[in-house]
Amino acid sequence: MIEDKTMNPADRALQPSEKAPLITADKVNKHFGSFHVIKDVSTAFYQGEVTVIIGASGSGKSTFLRMLNRLETHDTGNIVIDGIELNADLKHIDAVRREVGMVFQSFNLFPHLTVLDNVTLAPRRLRDVTRAQAEVAARELLAKVGLADHAHKYPHQISGGQAQRVAIARALAMQPKVMLFDEPTSALDPEMIKEVLDVMKDLARSGMTMIVVTHEMGFAREVADRVIFFEKGQILEEAPPAEFFSNARNERIRAFVGKIS
Ligand code: ADP
Ligand code: MG
Repeated sequence: MIEDKTMNPADRALQPSEKAPLITADKVNKHFGSFHVIKDVSTAFYQGEVTVIIGASGSGKSTFLRMLNRLETHDTGNIVIDGIELNADLKHIDAVRREVGMVFQSFNLFPHLTVLDNVTLAPRRLRDVTRAQAEVAARELLAKVGLADHAHKYPHQISGGQAQRVAIARALAMQPKVMLFDEPTSALDPEMIKEVLDVMKDLARSGMTMIVVTHEMGFAREVADRVIFFEKGQILEEAPPAEFFSNARNERIRAFVGKIS
């Protein structure tokens, strides 16, 4: 189990409206050239909340997620993360990147570094820790994702499911306040999907704030506090999973969910 370092479990009982959001997006817009990819999106993400984002391919899910750690810029509107406004100020961008971990579909491990060095690289460069300290922390994280025995291996020596768990450990090594996942299991063979989802479920239960783009509806039903449906760059619906799946108000959402679950 991944221990709870981020919050008191009792906090989960609080209604979101009683807490300050960790992330707010307010009337956010983005264009790629003349293409309006994100249209006036406003929402908030609360500490300890697990949000699943679904929607058709091309609806803007990845772009929206990438804006939350400034891998993409937004044109208008505001994004505030833990009190830091995301804008062109490089200090703000650095500060936000320390707080926001990201896991991609394609792992993005450094092929020339061992599993251990992949996990220690960012803390050694960006946090004030010695190599020895970083390695102790990295081994702990690798144990938590079930990879204690693989620290010395190179990425080509492990499976896709293991590589994705290393990528999760690597993001956690920066002690982020929120973890973003962009279709973390879509590049994996079916037998490896569960081992990655299990690590993500542990993380969710530990109180980590998570925003997860995924089509794994079992994961959404089991651990999400909220499901957001994106369509053509807009939030068409957001609701707790029980409500979302049982009586999606919108016919297009029902059709989409019917296709993927
Ligand atoms: P999703 O993750 O929901 O599949 P994306 O956010 O990746 O959607 O993409 C939304 C739309 O924006 C798509 O039509 C895609 O082709 C377009 N797009 C994404 N990234 C770029 C880019 N860097 N330049 C131009 N168009 C892009
Ligand atoms: Mg995408």
